[in-house]
Amino acid sequence: MASPRLIERAAMATNTPDFAWPDFDRWQAAFAAARVFPARWEGLHRVPPAHTPEAEAYRLRKLGLLVEWLDMLARRPTVHAHFARQGIRARVTRQDMRLPCPACEPFNTREVGTEPDTMPPFHPGCRCVLVAIPVEPAGRRRKSYERPRPRIE
Ligand SMILES: [Zn+2]
Repeated sequence: MASPRLIERAAMATNTPDFAWPDFDRWQAAFAAARVFPARWEGLHRVPPAHTPEAEAYRLRKLGLLVEWLDMLARRPTVHAHFARQGIRARVTRQDMRLPCPACEPFNTREVGTEPDTMPPFHPGCRCVLVAIPVEPAGRRRKSYERPRPRIE
């Protein structure tokens, strides 16, 4: 659930017919250029003309994404602290198994570092999650969390 403060911020940002969210515009342009949109960007692939029913639907989808994004960012330090406290190492994994997302792909299978921005979400609508890296018996530690080498055929 989004905290009341986040909802309030989102509501303030949306008092105008459309609301400015420059990061969203940058992501939108980048995904459009790559011709790959994350699943949560359904309905946001093209910017509709202003003052149309489509523009209102677009604005609401964008607002939903904003609330979710702020909520996920707010949660990130707590999740990070949880893993750190438990001494659990974690790596990033994609939940969305369709086309690789151009924004998350570089982070896929990467171990989470000490900074919260090494963990998801990497963009609004990001569906990456953290999975614990299993601890192997001493002496048999394999670096299984590392990105597999591309196969040469
Ligand atoms: Zn992504």
